[in-house]
Amino acid sequence: MSKPLNNERLQKAQEIAANPSAYKVCEACDSIVGSAAVTCANCHGYRFDTSSTRVVDQAIFLGTRKKTSVTAADLA
Ligand SMILES: [Zn+2]
Repeated sequence: MSKPLNNERLQKAQEIAANPSAYKVCEACDSIVGSAAVTCANCHGYRFDTSSTRVVDQAIFLGTRKKTSVTAADLA
């Protein structure tokens, strides 16, 4: 019985949402990168939104955008 891939995605989202200060959101492509990153690994952008609200919002969005039976309550 293997875990569906989506659980890993959700787990990562929870991890990020629990510790938003360790991450930031790329303003160019909305990727979440570690707070120590100088440029975005995805688009090489260098402008980031470091507000935890934005990081948490984005983590939940990325964790749930694939259509699943998981609800937002599971992230709380
Ligand atoms: Zn980017």
